[in-house]
Amino acid sequence: MIDKIKTIDKQYYMNTFGQRLDVCFSEGSGMKLISTENEVFFDFLGGIAVNAIGHCHPYFVKKIQEQVSKLVHVSNLYYIESQALLAEKLVKNTCMDKVFFSNSGAEANEGAFKLAKMHFYKKGSPKYEIISLDHSFHGRTLATVAATGQEKYQKPYKPLTPGFIQVEPNNIDALKKAAGDKTAAVFIEPIQGESGVHPMSKEYLQEVRSFCDENDILLIFDEVQTGMGRCGKLFAYELYGVEPDIMTSAKALGGGIPIGAVMAKEFVANAFTPGDHGTTFGGNPLATTAGLAVFDIFENEKLVENSEKMGLYFKTCLKKLSEKHSDKIVEVRGSGLLIGIELKPEISRTVFEKLFEAKILTSLCYNTIRLAPPLIIKEYEIDYFTETLDNILKNI
Ligand SMILES: *Cc1c(COP(=O)(O)O)cnc(C)c1O
Repeated sequence: MIDKIKTIDKQYYMNTFGQRLDVCFSEGSGMKLISTENEVFFDFLGGIAVNAIGHCHPYFVKKIQEQVSKLVHVSNLYYIESQALLAEKLVKNTCMDKVFFSNSGAEANEGAFKLAKMHFYKKGSPKYEIISLDHSFHGRTLATVAATGQEKYQKPYKPLTPGFIQVEPNNIDALKKAAGDKTAAVFIEPIQGESGVHPMSKEYLQEVRSFCDENDILLIFDEVQTGMGRCGKLFAYELYGVEPDIMTSAKALGGGIPIGAVMAKEFVANAFTPGDHGTTFGGNPLATTAGLAVFDIFENEKLVENSEKMGLYFKTCLKKLSEKHSDKIVEVRGSGLLIGIELKPEISRTVFEKLFEAKILTSLCYNTIRLAPPLIIKEYEIDYFTETLDNILKNI
């Protein structure tokens, strides 16, 4: 089965994902995925922080099936009940006042850039520059690539969209030096995911907030990965006691159905007036019903609380392991269930491959194993991961 799929993929699909891992999944349930060859895998990556409610959650499946048989898409020319209700949910559960839905994380970030620029344009003092951070990841569209502080993503696409600069993270002086009278916004992931789980310090984000306030600069948090309970709070800004002016979400928001969101405080959100921004698919009945189902499951199963609790347990287990294997593990980082295990460079790829051989899915970010399991995870599954990794490290 898989060989046939591989042959077709090779011939017809653009080769952007290179040599994919040698597996194709056909079914999933909770923490588990089943391959076309009937092998069972434990999903500790959750579709890169997407599958927060696990695979094929029965309530989610039911809600989606019901919606598909009623209505999938209508234009944003009309009112959409689930869209309004999901916007209400997000506002009532965050420090934000208004919402706009997109179809992906990158697209939500594009909306955030446009909103920031529009805010200053409407104020009559246009500013266009957006400062983001080295080692960040913000998406694959041209503007989000320009904001992404990783050379490998930017290089082939130069000249990049102008107006974007990057500075060193956790260095307030670097930010202050780079900012000027054209700086519209500072754009930050509170915990950088894609480059290997690098958290910002509390002190840094608080200083950034003050600096932005003093200089009429907007603070935008990209919570596409850190949001929706991933880091032990519904959104990671809560960990820092710092409220952004604009915030984006995506990944886990639709439980796997594509959806993104730009959220903003009232004083910024009001800059968008009719015609300033738009979307065909964004916030359609199917995607926003998915988002509402995710919120229901979060509430019924206390998944944000579970993320915090299991995250602490996971980190305790991994810290012990890193003491035992201090010659192999460099550092354990992260918050909630976004965890990075940085390994010595010479073994990182082998450990990642051995985990895959042991039917445990993770991702390798430079030398860091990134974990973003479903938030439904239980202690025994964490124990299983820890024991498996322990065995791999013993024998390497
Ligand atoms: C995944 C990710 C994005 C891009 O999301 P897409 O849905 O792939 O466009 C943007 N920002 C962060 C922090 C991400 O992790």
